[in-house]
Amino acid sequence: MKAARLEAIGKLVVREVEKPSPGPDDLLVRVEASGICGTDRHLFAGEFPSRPPVTLGHEFSGIIEAVGERVERFRPGMRITGDPNIHCDRCQQCRRGRINLCENLQAIGIHRDGGFADYVVIPQNQAYELPASLDPAFGAFCEPLACCLHGVDMAGIRTGQSVVVLGGGVIGLLVVQLARLAGATSVVLVTRQAVRRSLAEELGATSSVDPAAGDVVDQVAGADGLLPGGADVVFECAGVGETVAEAPKLARTGGTVVILGVMPKGEKVEMEPFDILFRELRVLGSFINPSTHARAAALISSGTIEVGRLISRRIRLEDLPEAVANPPRAGEVKVLVMPGGD
Ligand code: NAP
Repeated sequence: MKAARLEAIGKLVVREVEKPSPGPDDLLVRVEASGICGTDRHLFAGEFPSRPPVTLGHEFSGIIEAVGERVERFRPGMRITGDPNIHCDRCQQCRRGRINLCENLQAIGIHRDGGFADYVVIPQNQAYELPASLDPAFGAFCEPLACCLHGVDMAGIRTGQSVVVLGGGVIGLLVVQLARLAGATSVVLVTRQAVRRSLAEELGATSSVDPAAGDVVDQVAGADGLLPGGADVVFECAGVGETVAEAPKLARTGGTVVILGVMPKGEKVEMEPFDILFRELRVLGSFINPSTHARAAALISSGTIEVGRLISRRIRLEDLPEAVANPPRAGEVKVLVMPGGD
């Protein structure tokens, strides 16, 4: 079979490898779709720890081809989505129920072979069934959606509240939709590309803001802004210093800030602790997808969350190295690898 192997930092190669066989508790899955995530670019550039040589791809779905002898809930022919994050169940964090903070966390597509391949092997406990009728491309969105669900859960949005989302990539556009579902009546998306602002408004944002049109804090939280005094909840989904610094200033007094965007380790951002204290802001980090994958699969299977319009390109495995080695093209939201073709 073919697999895209990260052989060293900066060296991603598609080559013939041996088809894996499932262990007793594993599923052998023929990959239908595998999403390219910013993390894949960070892994390629050596900005995120990995264990080369390894097959990348942690946002994948496909059809079960074979199951191990102890597998009972799944059978060949079923379509599944894989939760890539495997926790150990033994460390202090797992024993506290904080499985996403597991001290021995292993991720499929980062630490062990992933979904940029014709086939992937995953433990049965990491799989969730998807309907046979679902568009094969849609299952690849379960993983990013599960991460967004965790952030939205942490925010605790109440019906009628207001939300600001900073960054209109796939994460921001999923959070916009989840915030509306959670009952937010005003959802403002801030992003630079006009095409993303219009898409966000079609997907449920009540308005959008162009950072180039003036100071974002004035445009949103100023006396004449869209949400004077700020929003109940602000989601940082861009992962850049500018938006992380803006986020607390966009929250109303007593409001909540959720950081979903990943900034490079060691980078610092200026914040004003007095403002956080005096206005009692809750500033929270949201990391991956603890126990949210099943709900993500339900939201996508039912069509409750729109993902089809987030697909910008479907590419072949052979075209992956070029796509990962370069920044996303203008206007692109999600690029999917379809190892078996469309
Ligand atoms: P993405 O496609 O890069 O989207 C982020 C977008 O933010 C950019 O494309 C850009 O769009 C916008 N942006 C950049 N600078 C901005 C600014 N100054 N003001 C407003 N918008 C700005 O990435 P993604 O896939 O959506 O992921 C978003 C972040 O979440 C990344 O940092 C990713 O690593 C992280 N992430 C976190 C988790 C988690 O568990 N917490 C899970 C998955 C991903 P424009 O060009 O339109 O401005």
